[in-house]
Amino acid sequence: MQPLKYLTGYPPHVQARVRELLAEGRLGAVLADRYGERHAVRNDGQLYAYVQALKERYMRKAVPLGKVLYDGKLQVVKHALGTHTAISRVQGGKLKASREIRIASVFRDAPAEFLKMIVVHELAHLKQAEHDKAFYQLCTHMAPDYHQLEFDLRLYLTQLDAAKAAGPAPPPPPA
Ligand SMILES: [Zn+2]
Repeated sequence: MQPLKYLTGYPPHVQARVRELLAEGRLGAVLADRYGERHAVRNDGQLYAYVQALKERYMRKAVPLGKVLYDGKLQVVKHALGTHTAISRVQGGKLKASREIRIASVFRDAPAEFLKMIVVHELAHLKQAEHDKAFYQLCTHMAPDYHQLEFDLRLYLTQLDAAKAAGPAPPPPPA
């Protein structure tokens, strides 16, 4: 049996349920039902504006954003769902920290809620480096259903892999 690489941290009965949905070919439909909304954040400029707006709303005092971009080479799992790089540079004699946020390009075509979830995750890292309690408190402050979203994002990635393994998908309906 193939391991469910996005769900390794979850209990066996949860994984078993996901396998069932996969075997029945229903996981995609379940997710599409719940997460039908697309987003219009198509390029790096739009992504920057999107991240900046959330930061203004919830984390105004955190260090300024550096670059914000979609990265086609990012592996979602390996980088714990995104990356957050601290870049320090000397400006006018003062050390000024700014942060670069890279979002795996799979999120460009993902439902709107998953883009929000990953951006919330990365923004929370502006203040908390570790995935600890304080970190998740920040996440749920910005997105109250953060934990559900993260779980469902893992289902979504599982479904994408399964669909890829099954062969080419029919073309998506026109937007
Ligand atoms: Zn993280």
